[in-house]
Amino acid sequence: MPIRVLSDQLASQIAAGEVVERPASVVKELIENALDAGAKTVNVEIRGGGRQLIQIADDGCGIPADEVETAFLRHATSKLATADDLESVSTLGFRGEALAAVAAVSQVTAVSRAEGQQAGVRLTLEGAKRVSRETVGAPQGTVIAVANLFYNVPARLKFLKSVTTEKRLIDEYVTRYALAYPDVRFRLSHDSRITFQSSGSGRLTDVVTAVYGPDTAKQLLALDDRDVPDAEAQDAGQSETPDDGKIHVSGYAGPPSLHYSNRKQIILFVNGRWIRDNSLTYAVIQAYHTLLPTGRYPMAIVFLDVPAESVDVNVHPAKTEVRFRQANSAFGAVQRAVRKTIVGDSPVPHTHFASLQSSGWSTAPERGAFGRRDEDVGQSSLNLDWKPPAAVVNGESQASSPQPNLGGQGLPIMRVVGQVGAAYIIAEGPEGLYLIDQHAAHERILFEQFMDRWQADQGDEGIVAQGLVSGVAVHVTPNQATLLNEQLDLLAHIGFQVEPFGPDAFMVRTIPALLSKLDPARALLDVIDELEHDEKPLFSAIEARLILRVCKSAAVKAGQSLSMREMEAMVRQLEECDSPHTCPHGRPTLIHLSASQLAKEFGRT
Ligand code: ADP
Ligand code: MG
Repeated sequence: MPIRVLSDQLASQIAAGEVVERPASVVKELIENALDAGAKTVNVEIRGGGRQLIQIADDGCGIPADEVETAFLRHATSKLATADDLESVSTLGFRGEALAAVAAVSQVTAVSRAEGQQAGVRLTLEGAKRVSRETVGAPQGTVIAVANLFYNVPARLKFLKSVTTEKRLIDEYVTRYALAYPDVRFRLSHDSRITFQSSGSGRLTDVVTAVYGPDTAKQLLALDDRDVPDAEAQDAGQSETPDDGKIHVSGYAGPPSLHYSNRKQIILFVNGRWIRDNSLTYAVIQAYHTLLPTGRYPMAIVFLDVPAESVDVNVHPAKTEVRFRQANSAFGAVQRAVRKTIVGDSPVPHTHFASLQSSGWSTAPERGAFGRRDEDVGQSSLNLDWKPPAAVVNGESQASSPQPNLGGQGLPIMRVVGQVGAAYIIAEGPEGLYLIDQHAAHERILFEQFMDRWQADQGDEGIVAQGLVSGVAVHVTPNQATLLNEQLDLLAHIGFQVEPFGPDAFMVRTIPALLSKLDPARALLDVIDELEHDEKPLFSAIEARLILRVCKSAAVKAGQSLSMREMEAMVRQLEECDSPHTCPHGRPTLIHLSASQLAKEFGRT
């Protein structure tokens, strides 16, 4: 075939495909137009999952009578004038493509009356061709009705999912925009049944409740991106850190106890625009590191506010991807804000001192918090170097009331009663009975102590390492040797000094001092195993994962009987943790049976 320029009609249909992929994308574009028009009310009516009809009515500024036809032309927009405007887009739309794209693949009726005009216009189009136009009486605002979507593009129609799926996708867009615009009243109906409404009260909590229901809504934690030093700096009249000072993060994050099988519950907005962004999604997931069970994902509604010129929204016709001028700052800002919120300024661990002293525990644990029992069998990994926080010594602490079971909060004061099955510690607390998984709890303790120490030591040569009297040789496969050779620096950084020792063998010279009871060979093999399971890890991510793995090796196993003193020390140390409710892999460390549950079980109520 010779080269020809495509007919206008065909070109529009091809272009339309990028903007209007399915009913939900029409809904998205029309809502964006309503919001750009300053609407305070947006009514969305859907029939047949959007295939039969999508109608969106708003009370925005309306389209002037003499511009109604123009609005449906390709690349016609009132939102951009010059190339410079593209540098700092402050409206949701700007490409002038949506109405043209929608019109090219459906039968559209638009009724609009602009602010200040006496009468409105009704325009009907079929496949972008004008069918009729008349002057009509209409309230200020715009109603766009899109009927028989893809009636002239059968190929598209074939690719639509079931009506249920299309409905769900539409619901997602409507609720996202309701979240981003709490001061706008949204109403959505499917086949004349109202399925969602927001009040337009301006309060995000109201929308969150409308979208997620009161049970979930009341568990959510408000994001706070103000660092303490920054707040102080601001008080002192200084601006924030120049690095990411202009990125503001707000919204909500779910507690770690709320988790889902996929990442769809993480939703992101940049300057009021819903976006997809793998990197920022990962920033949220990272913030929950070690707090969620493996394979589970958190929920979060994150709003980023950045200066319009520091983000490029012109990446794709659907405008759901953006590029940040400082992607790392955005990542860091999101991760920090979420982490800080969920870990919380946990009710100071020192509050447990009163009980700690009365339980007869010595505050001078020269040999580590866990005293050695005489009948200790084999190797104990409990010999930890743990110092009580300063506040204890000063006796400044007071007991606080028990906290609800949120990942980011402390444990109540517990008294150890005994051990069951050489695996669980039984403890009593103000709110009933607690069963603690000794392995999971110890893993959590080691992990947090390790991370604390690691962060403290990082400035120097990495974590404090303890030399082994005689090195321990470990044999590995050639593949493993290659892997290990690449990561020797990193291992040294976390306290493992490992040297090549002949072909396919390595000598472990030091191990992290904090884990002095670790079996060096076993630990190295675990580390290799962890490296093998990683495809393309980030440098810092490997370190954290290795630490996690090492803590798992070092933690006391089920099957090891513990003395009262060891158990008491473990419970105290667990109470000191920032996230005591889960092990670093996300399994629970303890099970709580409340007094009322017990009473119920015994038929006392
Ligand atoms: P864009 O939103 O990128 O400008 P669209 O094709 O979506 O492109 O819309 C074209 C133009 O039509 C807009 O720039 C706007 O001036 C006008 N318009 C569309 N929808 C509305 C609406 N609901 N209220 C007022 N004006 C609208
Ligand atoms: Mg638009």
